[in-house]
Amino acid sequence: MPAFEDLTTFRVGGAAETYLEVHSEDEFIAAIQTADQDGAPLLVLGGGSNLLVADEGFAGTVVKDMRQGITPISQDACGGASFEVVAGHSWDDLVQAAVANDWVGLEALSGIPGTVGAAPVQNIGAYGQEVAGAVASVRVWDRLKGAVRTLTASELGFDYRTSRLKRSMSVTSQLPGAPWYPSPAYVVLSVAFQTRLASLSAPIAYNELARHLGAEVGDRVPGDQVRAAVLELRGKKGMLLDDPAHPDHDRWSAGSFFTNPIVPVELAGQLPADAPRYPVRSARPAITTAPSLGEVREDVVKTSAAWLIEQAGFSKGYGVIGPDSPARLSSRHTLALTNRGMATARDIADLARTVRHGVQERFGITLEPEPVLVGVSL
Ligand SMILES: Cc1cc2nc3c(=O)[nH]c(=O)nc-3n(C[C@H](O)[C@H](O)[C@H](O)COP(=O)(O)OP(=O)(O)OC[C@H]3O[C@@H](n4cnc5c(N)ncnc54)[C@H](O)[C@@H]3O)c2cc1C
Repeated sequence: MPAFEDLTTFRVGGAAETYLEVHSEDEFIAAIQTADQDGAPLLVLGGGSNLLVADEGFAGTVVKDMRQGITPISQDACGGASFEVVAGHSWDDLVQAAVANDWVGLEALSGIPGTVGAAPVQNIGAYGQEVAGAVASVRVWDRLKGAVRTLTASELGFDYRTSRLKRSMSVTSQLPGAPWYPSPAYVVLSVAFQTRLASLSAPIAYNELARHLGAEVGDRVPGDQVRAAVLELRGKKGMLLDDPAHPDHDRWSAGSFFTNPIVPVELAGQLPADAPRYPVRSARPAITTAPSLGEVREDVVKTSAAWLIEQAGFSKGYGVIGPDSPARLSSRHTLALTNRGMATARDIADLARTVRHGVQERFGITLEPEPVLVGVSL
């Protein structure tokens, strides 16, 4: 059986007990049903770019959707574009196709590793866009009901790095049959998108991206320029996958390891004056067909996990046992925990625990891990 060190971007983790690759929707559903009927823990695997799996491996069934495919549904100047994409499709290949076809609203999500099926699970986001802005509905296998269902955008409960799908796998989920962890109670079979149709991007919503493009926040520029700028910015931060022929250990990660904490305004008021404070928006689009973000919330603000980590004394390249530690903060991005080539899952978890403890001691804020932890606790 393959090991997670070969299945995940962290490149750590032991073997899967059972590993199945599926090539059709029927095969996909049958594999999930069999695992659930046998009572075997199920891990639906995409690109393995948001997973930290224990060195002991996973005593359950791993199912990987091997399908690729984008099906255009309709396209016109008034109604925009709608298209459906199978869960196994590469996320960044979809963004590339969207930019080429003038489907607006995914361009700032260029370069995020993984699959289309996983994208709505944690509502992927970057550079001022979230996938929530373009998802019309998701076709799922409902493991509770044993049936295929369509969940519309408003039923998906999107929020910052979460959704109804992600919440369904939480150990605290009140759903019958819980725990579903480490995969949702609703397995994504395909995602239907609805976007505007234009050669210009959605309005730029991120300062750093606007600066890089020589534009202002709110400007619209050609979609391919946004894609190129985002790929360049991500490359400089080690936030792209590496080319196996040229290993770059800054990229052996799961991207950002901690989410940016959303804290009550009162707690944010107690942080040092120079602590970043960003408005929090409900991710639900104002109108469902627009790739726009929702209303600003008054009760909470988002601060920067990277800033907290640095101010708590952990700088880029930090390792628990010094500069030769097998797991270290990326030398280009404080928020990425990285495997320097020989790390184990335990080394990465030790680093995460140390950083989290330091931030808790200094600021009273508990950082929450973004990747799904399998057999690993912090
Ligand atoms: C270098 C790097 C940069 C990154 N940058 C970003 C970023 O900018 N923004 C961001 O949001 N994320 C980022 N990530 C995290 C990651 O790429 C995303 O979360 C991505 O969506 C994970 O997709 P995956 O297919 O690899 O999922 P996996 O890691 O394989 O799985 C993650 C979870 O999703 C579940 N899942 C997978 N497929 C399905 C399905 N079909 N149905 C139901 N559940 C499913 C799994 O069971 C698991 O619980 C980054 C990661 C890396 C390595």
